[in-house]
Amino acid sequence: TNKPRIIILGAGYAGMMTSKRLTQQFAPEEAEIVLVNKHNYHYQTTWLHEVAAGTIDVNRSRIMIKDVVDTNRVTLIQDTVVNINKEEKTVELMNDQLSYDYLVVALGFEKATFGIPGMDKHAFSIQSVDSSRLIRDHIEYNFAKYKNMDNPSEDLLTIVVGGAGFTGTEFVGELAERIPVLCKKYDIPRNKVKIIDVEAMPNVLPGFDEELADYAQRSLTARGITFKLNTMIKEVKEDRVIVGEEEEEIPAGTIVWTGGVQANHIVGKSGFELTKGKVNVDPTLRAPGHEDVFILGDCAWVMNKDTGKPYPPTAQIAIQEADTCAHNLRVSIFGGTLEEFDFDDKGQVASLGGSDAMGRVFDGRKLYGMQAKVMKHVVDDRYLYLLGGPKLVLKKGKFRPF
Ligand code: FAD
Ligand code: NAD
Repeated sequence: TNKPRIIILGAGYAGMMTSKRLTQQFAPEEAEIVLVNKHNYHYQTTWLHEVAAGTIDVNRSRIMIKDVVDTNRVTLIQDTVVNINKEEKTVELMNDQLSYDYLVVALGFEKATFGIPGMDKHAFSIQSVDSSRLIRDHIEYNFAKYKNMDNPSEDLLTIVVGGAGFTGTEFVGELAERIPVLCKKYDIPRNKVKIIDVEAMPNVLPGFDEELADYAQRSLTARGITFKLNTMIKEVKEDRVIVGEEEEEIPAGTIVWTGGVQANHIVGKSGFELTKGKVNVDPTLRAPGHEDVFILGDCAWVMNKDTGKPYPPTAQIAIQEADTCAHNLRVSIFGGTLEEFDFDDKGQVASLGGSDAMGRVFDGRKLYGMQAKVMKHVVDDRYLYLLGGPKLVLKKGKFRPF
């Protein structure tokens, strides 16, 4: 057939919502839609800190793609993208090669370790289902190991987290809930377990509302988290972290890096021009010089015209970009006016473990504790609703009745 072929790379927030929107905006005879993803499931990246701590089951965080994407309309290809040849308009996969008329790059983020020696090799990271459940299992294995040794070192029970941005803060919040459960299971006194979050800046959640960040720090400290602020991680060894000017050593059985993210390396490798590791797209979300390539989510550098700064890498933004992208794909094929991306900020809420959370909502109001937690669940369930309707909310939602 001579239908234009649209290929979407990555089934994260941006890729899933683009697939969904395209099936709504194009009739079957108008375009061929192909979705390529490494796994046959989509996962809730925003719940991975819970998977990593072990406070939710792995399967709760993932959704089979075929259950929410209309497979009569979208061809699913489970494979790994290796390279994009934008001049030839082809995508190289581990096991195949595909040609496209239009391409949507939504391959998400990877950890950024800023060249810190040993970080890549010795620290865990919260970036996929696979990398997150490894953390849960490693912590539990260390507890079991501790109990099974004659003279165990208490360092086995120390968990060091690098960075107290949103990911680090949310993760230690889950640990505050999970560790007492593990202590009970393995008959280990809670005071033998240390959870230390090392942050380079003078406060947690740098750049975020100070009152809210303060609340988070107090709540987490009260639940047994130690924050080591104003302290840079310099190096990581197999069983220790080296921090600060004095090169203090902190022995640890588990080291988790939550110190930053960057675009998937495939975009740089494929020769797209990068600005701070991401593709500086035009306001219609197309790669510069490539009108047939849209770049979304954590791979894109999208300027906020009001502040002159780029938007942060968030799921909320990735989801909204999908709408602009789907519209602009239709216009690219059938004509009309391209739409510029305009972010509708609905606020930002972070969970702190258990029933605690904090954040600000769209009208600037600040929420704390249970009220914020309820809002966090509303945000999560709203996304599930957009993706899979009420059925998915009932199956995976945070307020499911069973
Ligand atoms: P991703 O969600 O990263 O998805 C990329 C997809 O591409 C994945 O499915 C992956 O399997 C696939 N993929 C990757 N490489 C390949 C390849 N080579 N070949 C094939 N497929 C590939 N943001 C918020 O707005 N609110 C929050 O509450 C929030 N909480 C967060 C909590 C945590 C613990 C983390 C880590 C992040 C959180 N974020 C949150 C940020 C948010 O998750 C990201 O901004 C968002 O996931 C980006 O979406 P994306 O679609 O660009 O990519
Ligand atoms: P981040 O870049 O926001 O935070 C990284 C933190 O690590 C910073 O505070 C930084 O000062 C610190 N750091 C960096 N290098 C260090 C070093 N050598 N030693 C000690 N500390 C160091 O990364 P993130 O927390 O993974 O967040 C990534 C994106 O995902 C952000 O846009 C964030 O808003 C989003 N996110 C949102 C939520 C939410 O809304 N609930 C949750 C998680 C992530």
